[in-house]
Amino acid sequence: MFIDIHTHNINTKKDIIAIYNMQLNNSQTELYEKNKLSVGIHPWDIENIDIENELSKVEYYSLKKNIIAIGEIGIDRHKKISIETQKRIFIKQLEIAEKQNKPVIIHAVKSYSDIIEIKKKRKSNTTWIIHDYKGNQNISENLLAKNCIMSFGKSLIKSPKIQNIFKELPINSLFLETDNSGLSIYEIYKQAAYIKNISVELLKKRIFQTYLLTFA
Ligand SMILES: [Zn+2]
Repeated sequence: MFIDIHTHNINTKKDIIAIYNMQLNNSQTELYEKNKLSVGIHPWDIENIDIENELSKVEYYSLKKNIIAIGEIGIDRHKKISIETQKRIFIKQLEIAEKQNKPVIIHAVKSYSDIIEIKKKRKSNTTWIIHDYKGNQNISENLLAKNCIMSFGKSLIKSPKIQNIFKELPINSLFLETDNSGLSIYEIYKQAAYIKNISVELLKKRIFQTYLLTFA
C-alpha cells in the first residue's frame, strides 16, 4: 500500500491510502464518510474569519471517525499575519487533536524554532507530522527527539538540499505526500527509494508500518 499523508486531491486508486485535506467550508457529508481526511485552520486562512466559529467546526469534525488527523495547522513567518494570533490558533487546534488523540499535520515556514518550542511544552504525546519538511540537521535532531515525523513531496525531486536531508533521516520517521504538486505518489516513492538506495517495495513496507503505528 502506498501512503499519501497529505494531499489536496481526492484519491481513487485502490493501492493508495491518502489523507485528503478537507476545506472547512467545503465539508460535504459524502466527502468525510468516504475518505480519510484531515481538517484544520491553515495559518494563511486566519485573517477575516470568525475564529471561534471555525474552531468549533474543527472540534466538531475532530470527533468523526474518518477525520484521522488535524491539519494543516501551523505557523508561517513568511506571511504578514500576526505571529501571536497564529500561535494562539495553532495551540487551540493542538488541544483539539490532543483531546481526540489524533495526529496533527503541520505547515511550518521559517518557524521550526517556534514549532519546537511549542512541542517541548506540550505534555501530550500526539504525533506531529511536519509536512513539506525543509529543515536542517539541527532542526531534524530536535524534531526527532520529540518523535515528530517529517513528510516529503515535490522537493525530493527538485532540491538536492532536501534530498540530502531526506537521506539522513531514519526511515521510521518519514512520510511521503503529493500535497498540491500534481505529481503522483508513485513518482515520489520511486524518487524516495532511489535516494535511500532501497527498493520501492521495502520503502512501502516501512512507511506502511509507520502509518499503522501513527494512526492505530
Ligand atoms: Zn497542503
